[in-house]
Amino acid sequence: MLSLSNLRVLYDSVIEGVRDVSLDVPAGAIVALLGANGAGKSTVLKAISQVLYAEHGEIADGRITFDGQDVTHMSAQQVVRAGLVQVPEGRRLFDTLTVEENLLAGAAGQSATRARDGIDRVFGLFSELTDHRRRTSGLLSGGQQQMVAIGRALMGSPRLLMLDEPSLGLAPQISEKILGTVARLSREEGITVLLVEQNAQAALAMADHGYIMERGRVMLEGSAQSLLDNDDVREFYLGVG
Ligand code: ATP
Repeated sequence: MLSLSNLRVLYDSVIEGVRDVSLDVPAGAIVALLGANGAGKSTVLKAISQVLYAEHGEIADGRITFDGQDVTHMSAQQVVRAGLVQVPEGRRLFDTLTVEENLLAGAAGQSATRARDGIDRVFGLFSELTDHRRRTSGLLSGGQQQMVAIGRALMGSPRLLMLDEPSLGLAPQISEKILGTVARLSREEGITVLLVEQNAQAALAMADHGYIMERGRVMLEGSAQSLLDNDDVREFYLGVG
């Protein structure tokens, strides 16, 4: 469904963010993108979402296709319209707006009825947000803010959801709940997921396939199970073995 071939990204025309990155995300699958800080995971997501320009980054080489369509040089808006939606690292909510208003921000251009249905769906998935619908999102807990950020992305009816470190800074129980909801969305609604996650164990437990990046390149890839069984992965990324 989503395919990257030999992607190379430059920041400020000279700093290589990633190079020669090729990866495939099949329809309906959950694919985990793992690696240490600075390995290039966020750069890959930003390239797909076409938001690199905000950091003076550019796709210098390679190709990104989505359902066979070349999206390498589309605008950020066109990519969202094609069905690729990213939940950015750090959530990026409008802190002074309410939960409901933040969700509506993800429904730009939709009819009122469709937006209303979207909001009901998000509250159905994350029921604990229901009591906070008119609360300013800056006052929510980190976990609740992450739920709003995912909810806002879902308002755009994505076919492929990209998540950048959704469990960053959250207590294990809360992360588990959020990742569990993402897995359920994929299973029950067929949403394809590309997940960047620091918690490699949790990510591989829910993923079908994984890629491990180091210094801007893909060093290892395989089924989630094969990575969970790999001695190097166990030692360096899972902290066991
Ligand atoms: P993290 O987990 O810290 O977000 P990451 O795996 O997502 O790490 P990236 O943020 O994609 O890694 O960084 C990949 C490389 O690109 C790093 O060498 C980083 O220093 C460089 N880089 C990232 N953003 C910029 C930028 N705005 N300007 C210059 N270099 C950048």
